[in-house]
Amino acid sequence: MSKFWSPGVDSLTPYVPGEQPRQRMIKLNTNENPYPPSDRVERVLREFSCEQLRRYPDPESLALRDSLASAYNVTREQVFVGNGSDEVLAFAFRAFFLRDGEALSIPEHTYSFYPVYCQLYGIDLQKVALNERWEVPLEHFPEKGHAGIAFANPNAPTGHAHSRQAIRALLERQRERVVLIDEAYYGFGSESAVPLINEYHNLLVTGTFSKSRSLAGMRLGFAIGSRELIEGLERIKDSFNSYPIDPLASAVGIAALEDTRHYDECCRAIMATREGTAQALRELDIEVLPSQANFLFVRPRRKEAASVAASLRASGILVRHFAAPGLADWLRISIGTEAEMTALVTALATAP
Ligand SMILES: *Cc1c(COP(=O)(O)O)cnc(C)c1O
Repeated sequence: MSKFWSPGVDSLTPYVPGEQPRQRMIKLNTNENPYPPSDRVERVLREFSCEQLRRYPDPESLALRDSLASAYNVTREQVFVGNGSDEVLAFAFRAFFLRDGEALSIPEHTYSFYPVYCQLYGIDLQKVALNERWEVPLEHFPEKGHAGIAFANPNAPTGHAHSRQAIRALLERQRERVVLIDEAYYGFGSESAVPLINEYHNLLVTGTFSKSRSLAGMRLGFAIGSRELIEGLERIKDSFNSYPIDPLASAVGIAALEDTRHYDECCRAIMATREGTAQALRELDIEVLPSQANFLFVRPRRKEAASVAASLRASGILVRHFAAPGLADWLRISIGTEAEMTALVTALATAP
């Protein structure tokens, strides 16, 4: 609390990101990719000309947007880019969901940044409970009187993803407000809703380079949707920061998009490791939800989740435990390399 803060700043509950330890640990707590970015990214970094930094970057990020447009088979006007998808989400919440007397509808358990944006902007929230299989019950979202809908697909921290067909059925019932689908975990087996944007002008799909493209440190995110929605995002961005994408990030992003082979291989390895790890954990009497993301959501049956997380930490392995109501019995474990997951399974099997 400070007398210098504007009213409301002291009552904000900011998002708490997973720990970034200073010592070397096996990091399975923030869903980073265990494999390095493409060689092409490394070449860009080696050959980047310092001279470029003298000038401001392109405020419209046309080169990066063109690359994304061709990768996702859409047009440049249907693409928005930002400093991580967290920034894109922050702009989207402001652009579409701040509506007097109407509440944004989100799942009860989903990316925990959404309620933070709502609190920051004063957007009312209405939460929809997950079903008994821990899936987002698309049929329970309201059809009118709401400010819009936002959820992650695959959802976090559960890993369940709906098919494009199911998303289409939802969109058929949602004509009046924006439906935001956060595809941060696309690339690990789920279907993208991007091919639906030409049919549903209220659909905004967000994505990131942080997970499937191994670039969490570069801060690159994007949104794909109708021109109308992209223009709304641009109006917010240009009222906030004209240059969210620096020239190095842009060149790195373009290089990453060019190397589909490298990333396909990494994603396939992660999916194979995920399935092997799920099996090994089930054999240790741990409940494991099916996942189409680069993490597993698990419930140890014999011990408390918080104490399992603490004892893993003592063995040098970080996983994510959410102290939130309804999630306290569970752990979210990112998929690392085969060797890291073997270390995890060994630590769990031998823990006192
Ligand atoms: C990681 C994550 C993001 C944020 O990604 P950045 O692009 O690194 O900001 C957004 N949504 C979900 C669901 C995530 O898990």
